[in-house]
Amino acid sequence: MMKVRETALFCLVALAGGFASSDEERAVFVRWCMPVASAAEASPQKPGHNGRPVVPVSRKNDNRNVTMPARGAARANTDAAADKWGQQIDVRPEFYAARDVPAFQITLTRKWYQIAAHAWGNYGPLEFWIVGSSQDAARQLDQEYCRVRKQKDPARQIRDCLRRGHNFVTYATDGSAGLNTRRNENEKWSGFIITMSGKYPGPEEEDYMPVVLHEYFHVYQHAHIVSRKASVRERLNRKHPWWSEGGAEYMAQLLYSRQPGVRSGYLRQTMERKLKSIEDLREGERISEIPYGKRGIIAYDLGAWFIAFLIHKTSEEAYRVKFFKDLNEEGFEKSFSKSFGRSADELLQEFHETFLTLRRAEMLRILP
Ligand SMILES: [Zn+2]
Repeated sequence: MMKVRETALFCLVALAGGFASSDEERAVFVRWCMPVASAAEASPQKPGHNGRPVVPVSRKNDNRNVTMPARGAARANTDAAADKWGQQIDVRPEFYAARDVPAFQITLTRKWYQIAAHAWGNYGPLEFWIVGSSQDAARQLDQEYCRVRKQKDPARQIRDCLRRGHNFVTYATDGSAGLNTRRNENEKWSGFIITMSGKYPGPEEEDYMPVVLHEYFHVYQHAHIVSRKASVRERLNRKHPWWSEGGAEYMAQLLYSRQPGVRSGYLRQTMERKLKSIEDLREGERISEIPYGKRGIIAYDLGAWFIAFLIHKTSEEAYRVKFFKDLNEEGFEKSFSKSFGRSADELLQEFHETFLTLRRAEMLRILP
């Protein structure tokens, strides 16, 4: 018997503040990141899907341009991942979709991935898994997912993979989007798995586009942390959502706002809605103290503002390039003060005690 520990971080996107206008909608649409850890007993297994080539899910109307990796491609990715973590790579992501996912959604997801990778660099290996609304189709996609996991990491057990908590059926019923960064001491394969679904946001909603960018910015963040140790990865990315979610959210909205056809005023409107979370802060509370969970959305919203505040004080280059370039070697605090001139503690203090007390119009003025 071999003990396999499976640890993944599902970073679900908060949609509060997106296009929800009332508080009730905010409450309904809040999603948050949750670390998913499960220890599974893996018993010796007959050879089954080991080495099986990845096959497309059978589809009617299969005129969609879904990339399916050729035989052997997955293994090549595995080996490359071991050496190239954190480096920009040429390998493009793999796209998988449930049979009920409309073709335009796959095209849309690919397009917004391309925009993100063009702006921030191409990191990976990366897989996109797109779930529709049919639970049956999601279940089938789960099976394909587990075959791919087994193919890329033969030590993994398909039955454990199929038992995972937050599977595609959950996405089919609950919607939302998420990133699962797989890099740990127990698995050979390292990489990123982004799941998109049919609702919250659905592909016909404007939110879908910044959400793809948001998830990809998490790829960028995690690509800059090389360690396989969960404790090190958490220390560099911060345990609470203010830093990583604030960064993903602001960078996504900023990049989206700059795309052709996006109305002027988009960024201001989106960021203005996030200011509503100021009312939910407790007396003397800092965003850095708020964990994932029910109140996590406050850290998403005001964390995005904190990144806007940092960028306003320094530059986009200081945040997006310099901080992440030094992070792995220097650690969070050192890279932070090198990039932004002061400690995180000092800048958080100024953010709370000065910036967040300004009049709304003054706060909005820092946006580009
Ligand atoms: Zn996120």
